[in-house]
Amino acid sequence: MLSDSPRLEVVQGDLTPYRDGNIGVEYVHRFESGRPGPHVLINALTHGNEICGMVAARHLLDQGVRPLVGTLTVSFAHVEAYNAFDATQPFENRQIVHNLNRIWSDEWLDGPEDSPELRRARALRPVVAAADHILDLHSTSQDVLPFWVYPAYARNAALALAIGRPAVHLVMPQGLGSGTPLIQHGRHGVDDGPAGAAVVAECGQHFLQATADMAVAVTLDFLGHFGLIEREPQPAPAPQRRFELLQTRMVKTPEFRFVRPLVGFEVFAKDEVIATDGDEEIRSPCEDCTVLMPARVPIVGREGVYLTRPL
Ligand SMILES: [Zn+2]
Repeated sequence: MLSDSPRLEVVQGDLTPYRDGNIGVEYVHRFESGRPGPHVLINALTHGNEICGMVAARHLLDQGVRPLVGTLTVSFAHVEAYNAFDATQPFENRQIVHNLNRIWSDEWLDGPEDSPELRRARALRPVVAAADHILDLHSTSQDVLPFWVYPAYARNAALALAIGRPAVHLVMPQGLGSGTPLIQHGRHGVDDGPAGAAVVAECGQHFLQATADMAVAVTLDFLGHFGLIEREPQPAPAPQRRFELLQTRMVKTPEFRFVRPLVGFEVFAKDEVIATDGDEEIRSPCEDCTVLMPARVPIVGREGVYLTRPL
């Protein structure tokens, strides 16, 4: 069901104690093992109200997790948006001006515009560029199954399938179509480049404890996969379900409406109407079209819905 006044199970908490970091970039903490191995970045709060990553990052820092090999970097990306949290409007502080997860192209980062997100992305740029493997922790407006999101590069699929949790995958053969996400910055956006894996985990509904628990578990799985921590073998992964992103439909008019309330994972037959946007009909481009991340409240100029098909 649509959650207009969601349960706020996870305490936001004050992140000021984490501000200084140790590499000269606020809210970024790096730990070197002194041994050869990959450089892994665990990134939280790309969106200000997606607080599961904050819980996972704090878990690593508060528990004093240190890498056995390679390098571990932990970052809180958009603390300015996080700090704008208002419990009466908990969906409002996803971003301040720009979507911090759509501006990771050279055009935006080197461009003339300014915003809180662009300033932060410019500060984080060397942090993201330095990482071999990136886990970017996100969550969803609606209480739906957790899922991976990643460009359709073999290295990403291999990683996500090996970890197997979440058991649902949203694969992007053509990118997002609405900008460049953090996980496709620089060499991580090149199919055959010398990059490691870079993936998003959508861990569940923003404010639920189960979502924070999932973020912690996926983070530990990720670090264990690359040998940075010792990790007991995990239960056998559930059957994996993979979806291919076909279209990202943007909201063009204030009249954007879904034909019925959608939360994600609803299935449409070919040519069935999914939404209307002013005079335009958004129809299913294929059989078994599965919608993901339908906008809770459509906002002109932002993403309305992802249209996918099962692989
Ligand atoms: Zn997000």
